[in-house]
Amino acid sequence: MKKITILGSTGSIGTQALDVVRAQHFEVSGLAAHSSIELLEQQARAFLPDTVCIYREDLYKKLKENLSDTGVRVTAGMEGLCELAAQEQADIVLNAVVGMIGLQPTLAAIAAKKDVALANKETLVTGGEIVMRAAAENGVKILPVDSEHSAIFQALQGNRTDQVNRIILTASGGPFYGYTKEQLAQVTPEDALKHPNWNMGAKITIDSATLMNKGLELIEAVRLFGKQAKDIQIVVHRESVLHSAVEYHDYSVIAQLGVPDMRIPIQYALTYPDRFLCPTKQLSLIECGKLTFAEPDEETFICLKACKEAITRGGLYPTVVNGANEQAVALFLAKKIAFTDIGILVLKSLDRIAPSGEVTVENIIAADARAREWVLQQTGC
Ligand code: NDP
Ligand code: MG
Repeated sequence: MKKITILGSTGSIGTQALDVVRAQHFEVSGLAAHSSIELLEQQARAFLPDTVCIYREDLYKKLKENLSDTGVRVTAGMEGLCELAAQEQADIVLNAVVGMIGLQPTLAAIAAKKDVALANKETLVTGGEIVMRAAAENGVKILPVDSEHSAIFQALQGNRTDQVNRIILTASGGPFYGYTKEQLAQVTPEDALKHPNWNMGAKITIDSATLMNKGLELIEAVRLFGKQAKDIQIVVHRESVLHSAVEYHDYSVIAQLGVPDMRIPIQYALTYPDRFLCPTKQLSLIECGKLTFAEPDEETFICLKACKEAITRGGLYPTVVNGANEQAVALFLAKKIAFTDIGILVLKSLDRIAPSGEVTVENIIAADARAREWVLQQTGC
């Protein structure tokens, strides 16, 4: 029976992954969360992993006490998270934490020769080159969980990657599709947290509303599939049914379709190359009726433009836009800046911060910190 460790088990992807674990009768070797100790305790009691890790060290003692009757080991902090990612017992590690904080545990899992089911896209945006190189050197698989990248990965099965013309990356367009800049300036966190098709964590929901998510996914696709940004076309597809596609040299386009339910790509990453009944709904094309496609509006949703520029410049620039965005989103959610300030800050960060040095973990952490500090200075927060 496959043993799975889930980093970020209390979040949107983590809890859906546990649905898949139940449906497929997998075993759980480890679970980790940032601060949700009550839910983590419930999960630990239900799945009896070997180890659970709580990132916030001040909560360690309480969780350890609460789980003292279970035999489950408790760890804390970044050290605990990396140790959990590398622990012997796991066959596969699902990284579903949010933000670039996920980079080190991903690398720890790879170094321990674990396959990684990767939902944490910020890992690939910031450290994609290092991660893909380490995976190749250690002979492990990086299995995409992001629905678009899972679709691309599926459309590549049985085909030759050197015969790919381009990748078609679909985007829902988010809750503010068609809005003008003036309308966008008025939106509140409550408005932005209502996504039309997906129920996700707060940070990625805001990223979907600004289209930063699609920019991050463009960079993620460059890293995962070894294509250049110019070979990836972003297409707005409001229904989120066609999850992305690959065009080959003969102009055949192979796409993956399904209901918008993350349990499908989560399960495929965990059971690859096998396919089993998934705890979700069947897709009815007749109920869909029609599927629509349109061009994204990069002049209004400038985060997309910023990410294209960042990946074209390469090096540590993707880390800069990602760090500026993580900080700006936190400020928007705390009602300290306007929705449109997120894009302005992300785009400006590219010209205000000149990150230097090779792409190493240390330099990524430093560039990320500089981008966050710059955003705090700019906004007086
Ligand atoms: P959530 O905010 O719902 O969940 C994040 C999870 O990570 C929580 O369990 C959280 O714990 C945990 N976490 C955060 N920081 C740390 C840390 N330092 N150490 C340990 N655990 C941590 O996010 P989502 O599930 O929505 O997203 C997770 C990742 O997956 C993101 O990178 C996102 O972009 C990507 N993704 C998500 C999709 C979705 O449908 N949700 C779709 C495609 C990709 P706690 O509960 O304690 O805060
Ligand atoms: Mg996605």
